[in-house]
Amino acid sequence: MTFKELNISEPILKALANKNYKTPTPIQEQAIPIALDGRDLLGLAQTGTGKTAAFAIPIIQQLSLSQNKSRKREIAALVITPTRELAIQIDECFTDYAKHTGIRNTVIFGGVSQRPQVDQLNNGTDILIATPGRLLDLINQKVITLEHIRHFVLDEADRMLDMGFIHDIKRLLPLLPKQRQTLFFSATMPAAIDQLSKTILHKPVKVEVAPVSSVVDTIEQHLYFVEKPQKSDLLISLLAKEKNKSVLIFSRTKHGADKIARILTKKGVGCEAIHGNKSQGARQRALTNFKSGTTKVIVATDIAARGIDIANLELVINYDLPDVAETYVHRIGRTGRAGKHGTALTFCAPEERVMLKDIQKLTGKVLNTVATRA
Ligand code: AMP
Repeated sequence: MTFKELNISEPILKALANKNYKTPTPIQEQAIPIALDGRDLLGLAQTGTGKTAAFAIPIIQQLSLSQNKSRKREIAALVITPTRELAIQIDECFTDYAKHTGIRNTVIFGGVSQRPQVDQLNNGTDILIATPGRLLDLINQKVITLEHIRHFVLDEADRMLDMGFIHDIKRLLPLLPKQRQTLFFSATMPAAIDQLSKTILHKPVKVEVAPVSSVVDTIEQHLYFVEKPQKSDLLISLLAKEKNKSVLIFSRTKHGADKIARILTKKGVGCEAIHGNKSQGARQRALTNFKSGTTKVIVATDIAARGIDIANLELVINYDLPDVAETYVHRIGRTGRAGKHGTALTFCAPEERVMLKDIQKLTGKVLNTVATRA
């Protein structure tokens, strides 16, 4: 299957060729025809499956075909996503795919000054990508109206629930026109999300790819049994062998992330830590440096790392095991994206064996153990 066979228009095909996307991913293959048909969609897919393009492409295409040059630009499509990092990444995707179409997109999120965002909105936009809090603020201030929305995307619905955004979403829904297309994405379907989807979607088509328990087989996974006090030495010796790779290290706590970053810095390893106690600016700078390769190693907590999308991330290290087994799958899913090869190394201290058992149960795979003295 090719993008052309999915009836994608020339300007978008050109943008996809520029991105070097050769063939659609499974979620794209399934979701794009449904969305182009104007139907509602319930997409069960996690980050890393190519789901952003699966909703962005049909929206850009539908808007560009109905473009009326004489009309004032009004927000015709709205994408809601739980974190700033995801919002920025989705906005970048829209910018890339819409490059040759004349369709404009804008992103808004909290934690930074409103002014530049308001100025951009006043310049006119066709597509708005937003986190829920800032969106509601600007609606209340009458900077934004949702009355012209024709396409609505709810991204990462289960994380919205986790992060306490469900009430915000419920406040937004009555402000949307009834006549609209809704594309609803979630990695998992807890009862509350299932219920929410039923109130939002109209005769949806369900599309499901790679359930959360499955790890793509392009990711090589290794396990190190190590006493807690020896973890930092092991990390340093492993990093010494992987000098030019981009590495994402996961820590369970903010304090732990800072500590790991301090130890590495002392050993001369250039690295940065990102977590919720850092300012939005500092987090964004660290991510930009990591994406450009200026910083090779980043230490992150699970919340801060949500949705981090680095095209060439080769190595993920689980310095600590996560409390929830699904988090392991999310973590290592940051590497081995879109068919690329990736490696995930996991450190397990004796007190973490219980969590390891859960992970192996969920993924249905016993991790390959490497001798502790690396
Ligand atoms: P997502 O699940 O939307 O976060 O996308 C995961 C990654 O896959 C992103 O880095 C995209 O740029 C990349 N990607 C999406 N679609 C394709 C495709 N058809 N071919 C190659 N890479 C893709």
